[in-house]
Amino acid sequence: MPTKFIFVIGGVMSGVGKGASTASLGRVLASKGFQVTAMKIDPYINVDAGTMNPIEHGEVFVTIDGDETDQDMGNYERFLDEDITRENYMTTGRVYQSVINRERNMEYGGKCVQVVPHVPEEVIRRIDYVAQTKKVDFVLIEIGGTVGEYENILFLEALRMMKSRDPNSVRTILVSYLPVPPSIGEMKTKPTQHAVREAGRTGVTPDFIVCRSEETIDLPRREKLAQFCGVPANHIIAAANVSSIYKIPQIFDEQGFGDSLLASFGMKSPKSRLKEWSTLTNAIERATEEVTIGVIGKYFATGDFVLPDVYLSVLEAIKHASWSLGRKPVISWLNSEDYEQDPSKLDELKNLDGILIPGGFGTRGIEGKILAIQYAREHKIPYFGICYGMQCAVIEYARNVLGMSEANTVEMNPKANNPVIHLMENQQENVDQGKLGGTLRLGTYPCNLAPKTVTARAYGVQQIHERHRHRYEFNNDYRETLEKAGLVVSGESPDGQLVEIVEISDHPFFVGVQFHPEFQSRPLRPHPLFTAFVQAAIEK
Ligand code: GLN
Repeated sequence: MPTKFIFVIGGVMSGVGKGASTASLGRVLASKGFQVTAMKIDPYINVDAGTMNPIEHGEVFVTIDGDETDQDMGNYERFLDEDITRENYMTTGRVYQSVINRERNMEYGGKCVQVVPHVPEEVIRRIDYVAQTKKVDFVLIEIGGTVGEYENILFLEALRMMKSRDPNSVRTILVSYLPVPPSIGEMKTKPTQHAVREAGRTGVTPDFIVCRSEETIDLPRREKLAQFCGVPANHIIAAANVSSIYKIPQIFDEQGFGDSLLASFGMKSPKSRLKEWSTLTNAIERATEEVTIGVIGKYFATGDFVLPDVYLSVLEAIKHASWSLGRKPVISWLNSEDYEQDPSKLDELKNLDGILIPGGFGTRGIEGKILAIQYAREHKIPYFGICYGMQCAVIEYARNVLGMSEANTVEMNPKANNPVIHLMENQQENVDQGKLGGTLRLGTYPCNLAPKTVTARAYGVQQIHERHRHRYEFNNDYRETLEKAGLVVSGESPDGQLVEIVEISDHPFFVGVQFHPEFQSRPLRPHPLFTAFVQAAIEK
């Protein structure tokens, strides 16, 4: 069967759940026995998400092959339960970079290189490449942003060109938002009608509309949308808010979304097999007893709003582990800067069952994190440090156990007297020359575990593979001193040169990892370290 392409575009506003919808539809199709992959198109000029502040763009999701991508790639991995590689992600910057490089190499053979058709052609080349190399039945392609924006117009043009190349291989799904203004008390379809018309102006006609809303869209409004938007009524899919995004595949399946999509291609629809998935959603329903985890970070606040999306994979990994242990996770988002301004606030940490400090960059908020780690260590609250959270744990140990009051990371203080965390070998040049995009230590690396440690017991194997994203590392000049003082190095690179995991033994759970385990946690296969951490939190 030639590959079919399903584009997912957004209407009305951003953040309505195109990623979760794409991933959930992918899961439904995969459950019918098809080979499915998903791609994300980010309209930004940034070549990758690595150079974007998480407050602006959300989490940077790292693929096994070290691409710094959009958080939706994480949704695809979690719903499809497979690793997705860099070919599946593109940005405007990346597309233009290819076109310009090709022009410099005379690959256009003297032609005048134009925004249209050469840019959309490059987009199509990338989509075709994924279809051919991954040998899939379906490629789902999510175009970031909403219709009517200037930024994603060339991607919509690529969609239109692919459709005119082979109309029966392309379908378009519009994920739209239907507000219920409190003053009116009625669900309004007009913004979605406008979105459909706006898509039409770029030559794109949605075949399906996913209706995101607070409440489920009712029959009269479904009929209205069908009539005004030229879409069959059974192609209007209700997607009201749910308590967990993992319920969406079943909600789609109950409405026959996969069946009508396949029928639109003239294909038969095998039965969906979502049994494993319903085991998950049942576990979510059953988990009522709570476990409270504090996540201490600094990228939450924007004006008066809080953005937990910045740590999306961490949040999901905590949920996966908690559900597998029959608990309902309750997560407190705590701002590390609060503890710098007023250390007495640290006392609020005693109400938590576990504390997690995720990755981070730069100097803001770091002293607050170090204070919180000291509190967790001394008050024996289970602590899990990820990347910067591990580096801060090393600094805390050096300062407060070894008495090295000037211990620091050179990221914080380049002239630190005791740089227990320093720049990785080969990174100095990047920093000096300002080559900062895509030059971190990225992607999957092996790590050997020391026997009889908390970490080794959690994983149950001797070697692991985890994803990384960092520029600084544990300074081996201090390794012996720190180990003598009780810090256990429980994981290192196979050549013994890089400390990847530290822990302490006289504590219910105190583990810091240089890598990002959250990227490998899957709803049906929680990550062993998260499970061990949440288990310790439950026991506390
Ligand atoms: N800023 C630290 C480094 O670059 C940690 C990075 C992270 O937490 N992802 O090494």
